[in-house]
Amino acid sequence: RLYNEVQDLKGNIRVYCRIRPFLPGQSKKQTAIEYIGENGELVVSNPAKKGKDTHRLFKFNKVFSPAATQEEVFLDTQPLIRSVLDGYNVCIFAYGQTGSGKTYTMSGPNGSSKEDWGVNFRALNDLFQISQNRKSSIIYEVGVQMVEIYNEQVRDLLVGDSCQRRLGIWSTTQPNGLAVPEASMHSVKSTTDVLELMNIGLMNRAVGATALNERSSRSHSVLTVHVRGMDIKTNAVLRGSLHLVDLAGSERVDRSEATGDRLREAQHINKSLSALGDVIFALAQKNAHVPYRNSKLTQVLQSSLGGQAKTLMFVQLNPDVESYSETISTLKFAERVS
Ligand code: ADP
Ligand code: MG
Repeated sequence: RLYNEVQDLKGNIRVYCRIRPFLPGQSKKQTAIEYIGENGELVVSNPAKKGKDTHRLFKFNKVFSPAATQEEVFLDTQPLIRSVLDGYNVCIFAYGQTGSGKTYTMSGPNGSSKEDWGVNFRALNDLFQISQNRKSSIIYEVGVQMVEIYNEQVRDLLVGDSCQRRLGIWSTTQPNGLAVPEASMHSVKSTTDVLELMNIGLMNRAVGATALNERSSRSHSVLTVHVRGMDIKTNAVLRGSLHLVDLAGSERVDRSEATGDRLREAQHINKSLSALGDVIFALAQKNAHVPYRNSKLTQVLQSSLGGQAKTLMFVQLNPDVESYSETISTLKFAERVS
């Protein structure tokens, strides 16, 4: 193995919490974040509520404060990402309400410069750089797919015209191991390729935005990096894959207010996020049955959830007291699976 990583007691599922800062220009607001410990402790409170039981403690593998940089977050994620080169399947996803920093963590802010790059740019770049290491006897190929799951339909984010085509999901026992074989596969040969692909994907994801009003917050985007390594001395081949997932916003939609398309979207999001929670919960409990079939999301991610695969969830929080109830429901989701 090239890269070893200390396994924590929880096994192959770990949870990092990241709190986004208050944004510049935002009027001064109260924070619900009471305390961040060195060892992954987080205390939240609702100052509006007086009396007992107002403080709640949660425990994660790690908590990133609002001051944490993209670089710091990536450094704690890098060993997991590099294990893909050893043939592991890895899934990293960001969970949280809209506006909590999921896209910031996974991709970075819009039109970002290098230091703002999120996990996916950095991961691809890192894997690409290492795969170019000429000293190793292993020759790597890196290929990328990117799809969006919206209303339980899968579409390719890396093609122009056939953008609206719905793609099928195959069982992961297919010989080539691809969950969405119809999605275009793009080989990555340079850092420029990495940037171009990522930007096409992000742009295509935003396309629906004008028509459907912020569709990106109501769809899941899944970037999949496939790595194939061949040892030229032994001809041994190993494959690993990395799923980088920017989930739809987890906020509850008021049933009395949502109707038509909006209600349908909300139901699909709800269903797929609970399906994801159920799968991870089953894995954490080491249940014999893992309910992958309950959503397109869990079917697409199946190869990187469970078995030898490693899973990392970023729990994203908005620090604002006004988000308190969403913060608590996000934390409860995380608590259940960790
Ligand atoms: P989401 O994808 O969960 O809806 P975003 O990633 O779009 O949320 O974040 C909402 C806003 O907050 C964006 O303007 C984003 O640039 C900003 N933001 C999020 N996290 C951070 C952070 N750690 N540091 C600075 N700005 C952030
Ligand atoms: Mg987003």
